[in-house]
Amino acid sequence: MTPSFRRSVAEHRASIKELVDAALRDPGNEKVHLRQAMGRRLATTINAPRSLPPWDNSQMDGYAVNTTDLGQGPLRVTNPIAAGEAAPPLVHGHAAPIMTGAPMPEGANAVIPIEAAIPERFPSETQLAAGFTVQLPVNAEPGSFIRTRGSDITEGDTVLEAGTLLGPTSLGILAGLGIGETSVSQRPSVLLLSTGDELVAPGGELGPGQIHDANTTLLAVALEAAGCTVTTVGVLDDSPALFTESLRTALSTGERSHQLVISSGGISKGAFDVVKEVLGAHGIDFGSVKMQPGGPQGSGTLTLPGCEPVAFIAFPGNPVSAFVSFEIFLRPALAGHLGITARPQLKATLSEPMDSMPGKLQVRRGTYTDGAFTPLGGSSSHLLAALAASNALILIDEDIIELAAGQIVQTLIIGDGS
Ligand code: AMP
Ligand code: MG
Repeated sequence: MTPSFRRSVAEHRASIKELVDAALRDPGNEKVHLRQAMGRRLATTINAPRSLPPWDNSQMDGYAVNTTDLGQGPLRVTNPIAAGEAAPPLVHGHAAPIMTGAPMPEGANAVIPIEAAIPERFPSETQLAAGFTVQLPVNAEPGSFIRTRGSDITEGDTVLEAGTLLGPTSLGILAGLGIGETSVSQRPSVLLLSTGDELVAPGGELGPGQIHDANTTLLAVALEAAGCTVTTVGVLDDSPALFTESLRTALSTGERSHQLVISSGGISKGAFDVVKEVLGAHGIDFGSVKMQPGGPQGSGTLTLPGCEPVAFIAFPGNPVSAFVSFEIFLRPALAGHLGITARPQLKATLSEPMDSMPGKLQVRRGTYTDGAFTPLGGSSSHLLAALAASNALILIDEDIIELAAGQIVQTLIIGDGS
């Protein structure tokens, strides 16, 4: 079969972005607890249900005073006001020990920090009972060291606009305002499948010629780290009839329809390349991208009779190819929707010479340390252990066949665990 497309990396990237943009255009909303809202987009604009602080309170551990009482000798100290208590009114001529965050008593208009008092320590209960007095500075600005009601945010003001990507600080202000649940965009639901009759789920016993399925795990966690909800169906059969049946069942099971289906394997030029064989007739284009690893690719809108149309992306089966395809094509397309940041790009000095095949963009793996890149494991796309030991990729242009040690290369840092 002749491939239906032959594309540059940039062309395929653009094509995947277009497919993903359309698939994720209307994600739908759901109400979740704040802890589940991290990394999601706020569905509605939130106005403050109350002011923060809700009442005037002390910014320091110190004495609540009325400034008109200062400069007239030592003040009689009253019972202390702790955070979390209602404060009794301050009687003229008195100073009330007040802790940071405790409400200002009526009648007080300033806080004198404990450091400015003589003595510089709060009285014990016994000292208080004996009629303790404190010497304070002779004057202070009214309002000093008071955090006034609404000085952070006023009731009714907009706190966060609809569409805001929620992170620790935005979720912190919602929590601070007493909001426990919020409406956010739903995570994209992704159906993930592997193909290959030689594959056995990790933990299972291997028969002759069998290997364990690495891609279901690798791609599921990569998609989850990018913000997707992933349903895995394991390995689908390499026979066209069984593959079609299992795919149909997987697409119609579950409470929510999927926005995206990702497969690995079965799209090259082999005899049992079932994904290509079956789905070529149902809306998916297959072809090759000038990249190594990850040359064979497929994508399109799957129109399987009896199922809702759904965006489908087919990756090649070698684990390194599947991972590189995810990093180069899918992760960037998801990034804009899910708020994940692009991989950092850092310049590095190549620590040893490298070869690269002409005519293809080669994506090589290795380690980035202290400004140096050391390739690991050569170019073969089955080298999963070397990939696992790597924390960076370099993209070698199609017209470059040799790189010298000491040359400056651009790395893509993938080693932050997500
Ligand atoms: P395919 O793309 O199906 O031709 O597979 C290419 C190579 O990748 C073969 O050696 C497969 O055994 C291997 N392979 C395919 N899928 C997986 C997988 N899920 N886990 C590990 N290896 C795989
Ligand atoms: Mg296969």
